[in-house]
Amino acid sequence: MPNSLASQETVSFEETLDLMRTKLTGIVPDVEIEIKAELAHKINQLKAEKNAVILGHNYMEPALFNSVPDYVGDSLELSRVSAETDADIIVFCGVQFMAETAKILNPNKTVLIPAQKAGCSLAEGISAQDVRDLKEVYPGVPVVTYINTYADVKAESDYCCTSGNAGNVVRHLLEEGHKHILFLPDEFLARNTAKEVGVDYIEPVLDAGVQTLSDTPAIIGWKARCEVHELFNVDDINNVRKQFPEASVIAHPECSPEVVEVSDYAGSTKQLIDYVQRVDAKQYLVLTECSMGDNIAAENPDKDMLRLCSFRCPYMNLITMEDTLAALEGIQYEVHLDADLIERARTPIDRMLSIR
Ligand code: SF4
Repeated sequence: MPNSLASQETVSFEETLDLMRTKLTGIVPDVEIEIKAELAHKINQLKAEKNAVILGHNYMEPALFNSVPDYVGDSLELSRVSAETDADIIVFCGVQFMAETAKILNPNKTVLIPAQKAGCSLAEGISAQDVRDLKEVYPGVPVVTYINTYADVKAESDYCCTSGNAGNVVRHLLEEGHKHILFLPDEFLARNTAKEVGVDYIEPVLDAGVQTLSDTPAIIGWKARCEVHELFNVDDINNVRKQFPEASVIAHPECSPEVVEVSDYAGSTKQLIDYVQRVDAKQYLVLTECSMGDNIAAENPDKDMLRLCSFRCPYMNLITMEDTLAALEGIQYEVHLDADLIERARTPIDRMLSIR
């Protein structure tokens, strides 16, 4: 989704401040808006001088999210934008695996990530060797890896997916005649996707030799979890429902199947935003990384968002406006990947992007 403020090259500091106040008053303290508006103005000027584009994930903090990205969205939307940009430099305000995906799609462009150590518990939860081992235990079973993985894991995969298209990718493989699919690395997304498409879920086995699978269609998962989404639990939802009985509870599918089960709707960050805009409810409780609730509130001042979440992703939190400015000033930190790795990791991403 294009961001109206950042896409205007000639916005003065005063206009930047006014626009940020319009969006952020009540969400960010005014003194912080003033400080961040100065940074935003400098970043947007530098971005135009260097023909750079800034992509901002939905989990960026509200001041950054609402001022400097040219495009904001979830992993799938930003992958599509990065595949089509004609900017010379891509600054990815998101975590490492996202910047790697942009580099894989744009091998000849300079891709920068503002914080070098912005990891992800899902991406850290599986290695390329794990995938090779699984392929030996389940020979011939296609491998779908979540976009939240590093390039070497993608390179071992047949398809990538995001939380927005996981069901479509799995259905595509089932329609091609595959009965079993290795779906890595997020256990909860795998379980939720199995339920969505109506197939069984099988726990992975690594130490018992080649596995014989029955004819029943199934997803074989892995054991990694998002350290943020696994914190949501059914008791907390029930407590909120007692206090706000008319609230609509919407969850990201990286939450446990039990949490998704008692929610009113589950979807990717884009699908959650669309739900809030589409569906009239008295209040909304969004069960995902907590900056996104603030960003939805900024975009939809007429909607009553219950801002009760305190689960901030420690990796997304490393991406600041100060570091975004430093990234553009010093052209740091550049993502480097071997050409061979880029080629191998690109195939599953292209296959994903071809599935709507
Ligand atoms: S919110 Fe979870 S999945 Fe997203 S970057 Fe943070 S740890 Fe990874």
